[in-house]
Amino acid sequence: MNTPALTAITVNDIGEYIRHQSCDRRFYLKVHYDREVRPLPFFDRLLNTLEPVLSQVGKDREDQWEKELTDNGFRDLAAGLLKGKHDDVTWQDFAAELAKLPPGMPAYARQVRVQADLGAFAVSGLIDFVLVKWNADRPRLWLVECKASRRDRTYHRIQVALYRMLLQRMLVGRAVLIGGVVIPADSIECMIARIDEDRNTNQSILTLPALDLTSEEADIERLLDVGGRLDRAVALPLGDIGYRLDTKCDGCIYNVHCLTESARQRRPELLGIEPVSARLLHAAGLKTLDDLAQPAVFPPPAVEALLRNPGFDENLKLLEVRAKARRHTLPAVGSPAPAEEHDVASIPNTGVGHLPAHEGDNGRLLRVYLAVDYDYSENRIGALSAHVTRSDGRLHTRFVDTAGRWEPDPELLVTVPYVRKSLRNRG
Ligand code: SF4
Repeated sequence: MNTPALTAITVNDIGEYIRHQSCDRRFYLKVHYDREVRPLPFFDRLLNTLEPVLSQVGKDREDQWEKELTDNGFRDLAAGLLKGKHDDVTWQDFAAELAKLPPGMPAYARQVRVQADLGAFAVSGLIDFVLVKWNADRPRLWLVECKASRRDRTYHRIQVALYRMLLQRMLVGRAVLIGGVVIPADSIECMIARIDEDRNTNQSILTLPALDLTSEEADIERLLDVGGRLDRAVALPLGDIGYRLDTKCDGCIYNVHCLTESARQRRPELLGIEPVSARLLHAAGLKTLDDLAQPAVFPPPAVEALLRNPGFDENLKLLEVRAKARRHTLPAVGSPAPAEEHDVASIPNTGVGHLPAHEGDNGRLLRVYLAVDYDYSENRIGALSAHVTRSDGRLHTRFVDTAGRWEPDPELLVTVPYVRKSLRNRG
């Protein structure tokens, strides 16, 4: 009997899955890219233009780490292995060079390709650096994941743990030989090199400690197992995979798929609700924003049952208000949207706000309106600008008609009762 072909994925796919809060839909879209994503018109033109910039920043950092190694006498074992346009080396070629390494010589290779079957998946990946460090006459292998990041993130550790698991699978029944010394597969160390938060420079790749990745490896085993969460997710139809549109989607390349498809189907997920709530709404017959925005005067039994379901913690009245506002941003279906619906709606019964009054016993409030420009390539704030005012007016951000297009007015305005004043040329 033929065994079914394993699904081919990369270590990055798992890392990105974890980074996006274990979004099954993201993993599904990556695996079924040709079928689900590529046919979307203009998809590639909507891809995030920041990605190549971030990728170049990461490469520049890796060059600095490589310089640290060569400055400390490490030999580049991949130098003679790079062929033509390929800038990665296979583990097998690298292992052949390792065997020829003279005792006591520290060495490294960049972009070493590893590949093995893990559970239901055929996984491949590129290890940023493989180092050979010597302790007296004992060599040790270190796998290094480099990140142009200042924070310790779970997906960094998952990635480097995956590299080690792949390598250990590849080494079953084979030994790594370095300068005539046999290295057991279970003695390979892992580390992650990042940017030092205090000094904004690369951490030293030579002094970082080895990581204990026991729990990450157990999680990976479960995740990739036959019949595990990811194996089940890729076998489902796309419409059956729950998803939540929230802040994690800002940095996801598939948001142009999820947002447009959700809009086309007018799905309640556009309200950012939990997947379980969306599923319960669907089961109760509330399948679209329109169903939520126009509830029946006498709710059908399925909706009555939904309200009694302890697993459903949304407020239908509130969802109705939000659905009306959200669907107003979508193209109208059939008849035009009712005149009383707008893109923005006030939420009833939210109590009194915590913002202090503009005028109080101690005089008028000093207000600061802050704009933050974030530099994504360096992962830090690039500029702060503030509008500081004690005026009795309110800042007014309006749109103006520019050659037939409504655009934000760059001029700063305040509205005082019955008068609108420009702030141009005021200190
Ligand atoms: S946009 Fe959000 S919901 Fe869609 S795949 Fe990406 S992370 Fe998941």
